[in-house]
Amino acid sequence: MRYTAEQTLDILVEGNRKFSSGEIAVQRFEDAHQIMMADQKPMAVILSCSDSRVLPEQIFSQGFGDVFVIRVAGNIAKPSQIGSIEYAVKQYEIPLVVVLGHSDCGAIASTIDVCRNPSKVLPENLQQIVDDIKPTVIDVYENNKTAELVEIAKLAIQENAKNIVIELCENSSFLKQRVEDGELKIVAAKFSMDTAIVEFFD
Ligand SMILES: [Zn+2]
Repeated sequence: MRYTAEQTLDILVEGNRKFSSGEIAVQRFEDAHQIMMADQKPMAVILSCSDSRVLPEQIFSQGFGDVFVIRVAGNIAKPSQIGSIEYAVKQYEIPLVVVLGHSDCGAIASTIDVCRNPSKVLPENLQQIVDDIKPTVIDVYENNKTAELVEIAKLAIQENAKNIVIELCENSSFLKQRVEDGELKIVAAKFSMDTAIVEFFD
C-alpha cells in the first residue's frame, strides 16, 4: 500500500518519538538482509546535513530500505541533491520530502562566522556552501538586530531548512508540479541534539 504524505509524516513522527524516548526498535540483521535482497521501497526522502551526530534512519527509527537519504553539509539543495530527490520521488512514488536541519550546525556556524569576519578565507568549494546559506543568515541578522549570536544561529538553522523547501520547488519544475497536484509534500524540520526530538515546520 502506498502511504499519503500525512501518513508518512505520522510514521516519522512516531519513529522519532520512539528514538527520543529511548524505546528504539532494533532491526534484526536477517530482516535487513531480506530487505536488501528485495527492491527498495522508501517512503520518504530526507535531505539532511552530514553532521556525524545526525543519523536520519536512526532518529526516525527506520531501517534498511525505508528512507532515501541525501546528506550534504548545511542540507543545501544544489543540482545533484535536487536530481537525487527527483529520482527518488519519481522512481518510488514518494509522497514526502523532509529537509532536515539540526541544532549546533557547523555549516550555519561557519556562515555566521564568515558574515562577521568577511576577510576569512575558506577552501573554494566550502565557500560555495557558505555562499549558498549566506542570504538566509543575512536576512536573519537584518530581522533580529538585537538578538544574541546563539539565537541568530537557532533562527538561521530553521530559516535555512524552510528556504530550501521553497528552493526545491523553484529549481525543479518536476517537484513543483507534484506539489501542485497534491502528490507530494515538502516539509522543513529540525533535529535537536539536546532532546533528540525532530520539530517539523509546516
Ligand atoms: Zn550541520
